Amino acid sequence: MNRVALVTGGTRGIGGAISLALKNHGCQVAANYHANDEAAEHFREVTGVDIYKWDVSDFAACEAGVAQIEADLGPIDILVNNAGITRDGTLQKMTPDRWQAVLDTNLGSCFNLCHATFPGMRARKFGRVVNVGSINGQAGQYGQVNYAAAKSGIHGFTKALAQEGARHGITVNAVAPGYVDTDMVRAVPEAVLEKIVASIPVGRLGRAEDIARAVLFLTANDADFITGSTISVNGGHHMY
Ligand code: NDP
Repeated sequence: MNRVALVTGGTRGIGGAISLALKNHGCQVAANYHANDEAAEHFREVTGVDIYKWDVSDFAACEAGVAQIEADLGPIDILVNNAGITRDGTLQKMTPDRWQAVLDTNLGSCFNLCHATFPGMRARKFGRVVNVGSINGQAGQYGQVNYAAAKSGIHGFTKALAQEGARHGITVNAVAPGYVDTDMVRAVPEAVLEKIVASIPVGRLGRAEDIARAVLFLTANDADFITGSTISVNGGHHMY
């Protein structure tokens, strides 16, 4: 059966690789994005994946986005909450707007989109939700109280919602990437990155495709006995 999948932040980086992997696996994919029209248009042209622009931190926009996708492609079976941002700074320098932006975009979006898609999944007795957490939500990270709190929240959210979905054919899992070579990590100073790579047992940064592989595994039709779990994909970093 052709599944319909929504991937937030699905037009570049890790989300781009997830969108492509799901499409290559026979899904009809809706890739959401927020601001980078150029990257999104390029992605659509190269892959043929449908693109949808809205801000996932906005509850009403998420409801409208889901309604539009379901009108265009059919009911959403697979939801990958991947969109995320960083607004780093130590606690002293952390402003309320940086704190809130990261909480709303990285964690609030999971609530917004699960709220919009869960009733349909329940009614059809099938759903696969994968939330993209982070090694920094598991271990914490200097200068990232906002990001670590949001990502850690994702792991708790995942376990709680998994219990609500379990009797209704819906699995809810998370993947926790380590450092992956995307625009987000390219913004990290090179000297810091070198140190990070030196502490990764596998000896390299992750590739977006490494994360997509785990998402594909968790969204399979027959992956119905894995729920409330987090798969760490981090090259052995910290051995989480
Ligand atoms: P990128 O910065 O490369 O891409 C982020 C994506 O999220 C873009 O598509 C962006 O859209 C989208 N996005 C950001 N804000 C919003 C918003 N408000 N509404 C809708 N879409 C939005 O990030 P990565 O690919 O590196 O990261 C993907 C996920 O993986 C994130 O959740 C991140 O926290 C997590 N992660 C990444 C790691 C890494 O090392 N890269 C490590 C651990 C976790 P647009 O293109 O329009 O800007």
